[in-house]
Parts: sequence; C-alpha cells; structure tokens
Amino acid sequence: MSHAGISMQTLRLLLLGTAAAVIATGCGRQTGQRALAPVTLAAAPYKPGSLSIECGTLIDGIGDEPRREVTVVIRDGRIAAVNAGYDRPADLASLDLRAYTCLPGLIEMHDHITETFSDSTDMSIYLRRNDDEQWLLSRSQAEATLLAGFTTVRNVGAYHAWTDRELRDAINHGNVAGPRLQVCGYYLTIANGGGDLIVPNLSREQIPARFHAGVAKGPEEFRRKAQIAIDGGADLLKVIASGAVLAYGGVPGEREMTPEEIRAVVEVAHAAGKKVAAHAHGAQSIKDAILAGADTIEHASLIDDEAIALAREHGVALSMDVYNGSYIDTEGRKQGWPEEFLRKNLETTEAQRQAFTKAHAAGVAIVYGTDAGVYPHGENARQFPIMVQRGMTPMEAIKSATSVAAKYMGWDDRVGSIDAGKFGDLIAVKGDPLQDITELQSPTVVIKDGLAFRLPAAQ
Ligand SMILES: [Zn+2]
Repeated sequence: MSHAGISMQTLRLLLLGTAAAVIATGCGRQTGQRALAPVTLAAAPYKPGSLSIECGTLIDGIGDEPRREVTVVIRDGRIAAVNAGYDRPADLASLDLRAYTCLPGLIEMHDHITETFSDSTDMSIYLRRNDDEQWLLSRSQAEATLLAGFTTVRNVGAYHAWTDRELRDAINHGNVAGPRLQVCGYYLTIANGGGDLIVPNLSREQIPARFHAGVAKGPEEFRRKAQIAIDGGADLLKVIASGAVLAYGGVPGEREMTPEEIRAVVEVAHAAGKKVAAHAHGAQSIKDAILAGADTIEHASLIDDEAIALAREHGVALSMDVYNGSYIDTEGRKQGWPEEFLRKNLETTEAQRQAFTKAHAAGVAIVYGTDAGVYPHGENARQFPIMVQRGMTPMEAIKSATSVAAKYMGWDDRVGSIDAGKFGDLIAVKGDPLQDITELQSPTVVIKDGLAFRLPAAQ
C-alpha cells in the first residue's frame, strides 16, 4: 500500500478516538484495535467525524466516468467539498487512499437486518428466542452489514414487530455500529400470507400477537394498521401483495392482497410522505401494486411484458433479489430448509434472472435489493456479479446501489453520491470495480458519518 505507515497509524487512533465516544463494544474487534469501553445510550450523544480523504479514483455514484486524484473533505459528518487533485485542508486528519477506488457508501434496498438465515430451517425459533438473543443478533448483523460497505439499509420486514425500529434508534444514538436504517416495523399482510408468521403444528392463536402486528383484512383494516405503523415511527410501509417463497402455503404467482387493500396502504403512506415497498412475485400482483401507487416492487420474479411496460410508464423501480436463489438452493438445502421453500425457490430463481435482463433492457429502474437475512448478513455485495452477468454494466450496478437506490428511498438529498452536503459515507476498494465487480465484496475502507469503521491494515 502506498500510504505512509506512521500517518495511517496516527489517523486510525485519531478516528477511533472519535468513534470510541459514540460506538459501543464490538467496534474494536472489527478494526483490530484496542477494545473500546461500552457506553450507555444516555452518555453517548452522537458525534460525527471530520477528515479529508485522498482518492486515487473516485466513482461518485452519479457520473458515468470515474474521476482521478480527488480529495473528499468531510466536516462534522457531512461532505463539505470534493476537490480536484490532492488538495487537503491543513486542519483535518487525512486518509491516503491514492492507491484505492473510492465510492459512496452502498445502499441495500431489501434487507431483513433483524432476521437470520438459519431461521428458515425451523420457524419455531421465533417463539423460543428471547429479547436479549434477538438484540444480540440485530446488533451483530448491523455491524456485519456496515463493515461490508453498506452504510444505508432499507429494512423491509421483521416477523417480530418493531425489532428494526429498536435497532435503527440505537444506531442513530451512536450506541451500535450499523448502517443508517429505514424501517417498516412490520409486514402488512393477510392472515396466513407471506408476512404472517406460520409455524408448522401451531395454530395462529398459539403464536403471540407481536408476530401478527400487520395482519389485516379489507381496505379499512389495512388503512388502520398502516396508520399505526406510521404513528409508531415507520419510515416506509411494506405490503405483501403476492404469495412468498419462504413461507408455508403461499403461491408466489398468486394474489394475496386485493388492489383496494394495497391502495389503502399507499394512501396512508403517501399522505405521511412515506414510500411503499410491495412484495410481488406474480405478474398480476405486480400490476396491482403499480396501479395502486407502490413505489418499488420487491422480487418481481414472474413479471411479464405488460407489467414491465407499466413499471416504466409509472416510474416504479424493481428491487430484484437475483443472488439469493443460489444460496437457498445450495446452503439452504444443506441446512435442511423445508422442501416447499426449496421448490418455490427453484420455480422463481431463473425466471427472475431472465426477467431482470428483460426489465433492465426495457429501461425500467432497478434498485439494489438482495433479501439479506435469507442469506448471511455482510455478504450483501454478492449480488453485484449476477446483475452484471445478467445485463448491467458494472457502473449501472453500482448506481443501482447508490444514486438510484437513494432516489427510490426518498433520501437522494442525503446519501447515494459523493457530493457536497451528503452524509460523509464512503467506501474504498483496492482494485477497479469497473473491471471486476467482485471487488465490492471486500471493501478495505468503510466510513460513515465521517467515522472510520474499517481501515487498511497498518503497515
Ligand atoms: Zn424480503
């Protein structure tokens, strides 16, 4: 590495000194530095960092071409300037990334950050897991996601209602190292639908209410449950319009919510300035959701030409999780996931990948959503190569996880590009991701809010 060892070491300590004030235990382990003392929520007012970063190459998330030799200046957690050349302010610590490619912090648009992959083997785990166990999972998965370079995450569902809100708030308070989160609180779903927790050999009545918070029937009840989610602090709403792959009894190609029910949720969300993510595999449900006003279609596995045209016409983005089918069919099978899940996965995986190619070629916006939680957190970048194999250029794939994602989550004023005024979120990789997209699977540097969570190893 080209950076000077001494200044890097000084910088690391300087940055960790800042981070130590706001980040609880766990951070020291990832950075390979001294253990940090835990801090309590009340004692930890969030304090973003300031530094300048010299980038050999910068992919800014918006431009079509990378820029060479750029200095990114972050002050108090926000990007203050993007200077041509190595032009660093004298008053700031500087990070030498002249040998690296810098990019905006990545955005994951379809995550289940409080759920874990092994849950699919036996759904009764939800009834046996206590609050402390849940919290440890949530926290470690948030850290893994952040260290993988995903500094912003849209969480689109938790069976245990509001576990995502608890995590979001702890991260925002600086008590947990994790991505900035948008959360939905719970799934809006019909009874026994794709967002309702179903456990074999148990009746719905035997499953506690916290796992059914968003179950409704008819537009009025959906409207009411949607409003409760908004009032409870949801940043977006998630509807389960069609059947699901990883749920008992659901048929992915079939409708679960009616168009009127979806519309009721959309009206509540949009009145509050929030967006709606609609889980829809089948073509009919995709059309229902687009016409009802949903902002993104999740999965879209069985989309047809008519629905592709409709998505383009209405400016609706598709969030297609084209990687995880491979994980489910190999690792899920080894772990003994239910035969029904494995079968439905096979019925949707290749169809979805072909649909991805078609939709992208037709000019439909596609955002980077992977369904992390179905597979291990921190491996979110594994979807990039599939998107490139299936028709995107590496730059298009990067934009789907930066500026395009930011637009569709309504946060293009704060994340998704390296631009003055945005949050100081930046990652760096050693190689050139435009030549080899798998470079994004191992970022060497992860900075969020001007605080370094991952840095190159000391010389
Ligand atoms: Zn999902």
